[in-house]
Parts: sequence; C-alpha cells; structure tokens
Amino acid sequence: MATIALIAHDGKKADMVAFAMQHTETLRHFDIVATGTTGQLLVEKVGLTVERMLSGPIGGDAQIAAMVADHKITAVFFFLDPLGKHPHDPDIQMLMRLCNVHNVPLATNAATAACIIDALTD
Ligand code: PGA
Repeated sequence: MATIALIAHDGKKADMVAFAMQHTETLRHFDIVATGTTGQLLVEKVGLTVERMLSGPIGGDAQIAAMVADHKITAVFFFLDPLGKHPHDPDIQMLMRLCNVHNVPLATNAATAACIIDALTD
C-alpha cells in the first residue's frame, strides 16, 4: 500500500484534523505515517491507523525526511504555520528539500493536499 506522511504545525493541527475528517475513507486506503502529536490527534479524533514517529521538534520531521530519501513515501502533506517560529526549522527545510530532490508530491496547505489526494485516488 502507498504511504502518505501527515504533519501539521501546532497552528495548523485543527486544519489537519478537519482535512482528515473530510477525507477519512480515502486516507484509509493508504498507510499513514505522522509526526508524534499530529499522529496522536489523527488516531484520537479521526480514528485513523497511524505509524507515529517522534514529535517534529525532537526529530520526527527528520525521520520522515529519511523515509522520503529511501523512497518509502508517496506524498507528504505538511501543513505549515507561516505565522509561527519553529525551533526545528532546519529539519523542516530538510524534509521539503528532500521532497524536491526526489520529486515527491508535497502539500503545505489543505487546499493542495485535497488536490493531491484526488489525483492519487483517480
Ligand atoms: P508534531 O510535529 O506533530 O509532533 O507536533 C509537527 C512539527 O511541528 O513538525
């Protein structure tokens, strides 16, 4: 099964939960990996089965970046908070850079994620 990575900054976690609720049945067709807190919310509030990595600020984004480099991820949905500061910005940049290195679809907001998930399920 194809794997999608789901990550949301704190200011965008509500958007991620809403997105996952809108697309729950579609998301069930994928293996889901997520950073720690995002994954916990997806399990508790949406009922998805999720492989949880570390929380983003302590290495979860870097773990997912490594999976992208290993071609284990079909698409990354990383809902960025453009108004927040993030201590793990180097890890975030690395993840986005590796998506671009390996030509992996990367959605940084819910509107783009909706387009990609439609494309993946056509
Ligand atoms: P979190 O990490 O899901 O553990 O909050 C997300 C992030 O900020 O990268």
